[in-house]
Amino acid sequence: MSIEPPPEALSPGLYIVATPIGNLGDVTLRAVDSFTRCDVVACEDTRVTGKLLKHLGIHKPLHRYNDHSDEAARLRLVQMMQDNAVVLVSDAGTPLISDPGHRLVRDARAAGVAITSLPGACAAITALTLSGLPNDRFLFAGFLPVKEKARKAALEDAGAANATLIFYETGPRLVKSLDAMAELLPDRAISVARELTKLFEECRTGSAAVLAGHYRDNPPKGEIVLMVGPPAKAAFSQQDADALLRAALDIDKPSQAASKVAKAIGGDRKMLYARAMQLRAR
Ligand code: SAM
Repeated sequence: MSIEPPPEALSPGLYIVATPIGNLGDVTLRAVDSFTRCDVVACEDTRVTGKLLKHLGIHKPLHRYNDHSDEAARLRLVQMMQDNAVVLVSDAGTPLISDPGHRLVRDARAAGVAITSLPGACAAITALTLSGLPNDRFLFAGFLPVKEKARKAALEDAGAANATLIFYETGPRLVKSLDAMAELLPDRAISVARELTKLFEECRTGSAAVLAGHYRDNPPKGEIVLMVGPPAKAAFSQQDADALLRAALDIDKPSQAASKVAKAIGGDRKMLYARAMQLRAR
């Protein structure tokens, strides 16, 4: 009978490890390996992470670290990283993303601790890929404020960005946020992604007003990501495009002029290039 040698211990440092957001099958091979080979797991809630480790058949000392941990607790953990491999997890998903850990990473970095981050599930990115909304530019803005005035101000502020907006949301607050979006961003495409990676996963897209009506009638359960499509590009007339092209052609070659104007007005670069060639020939 051969006896497996114990797995080699990880070198001391901080390992930021993403965990599943619902479906335990999404735990990564590297996450399992790091749990197996680390000295201690720092986690938000020892019961939640204890369950995950039990599911994986791994026993490790758990060390509670969350937003309530004071500076002394944080510095003790940083001190521990000098001689121990410390894995940092949150209850679910990627640590630090609307979860504790920013100050810990900042202080560990300042103390010269070796740090690495093991990627994995993140609700914001999972929702964005599912939504069908444009994803070339996006703004992740965490949770909207609870109070109405602050929520509207945050929405107006984020709404000015030329990007898809991603918010984390809760069931009891979803309709209020959709109502605010219907008032402030009535023309934008909205997407609600719920219970991602779980049995009752759903993703609904429509106007804020229609979705608010739907969820008023069907109060949503579970975890939610709320997304807002980017503002529609201002419509430019052929005359506007020609004026911009002529100005650009004074200093640039047609290909550069077309690229610049395409970027400015969001037009088709090939068509603008063809038009630039026509204008230059006149
Ligand atoms: N760090 C986590 C991540 O990487 O996604 C997010 C933590 S934050 C405290 C929890 C919020 O993430 C939930 O309120 C919800 O908005 C979103 N979320 C987490 N899991 C989700 C899921 N399975 N489906 C939809 N949203 C989820």
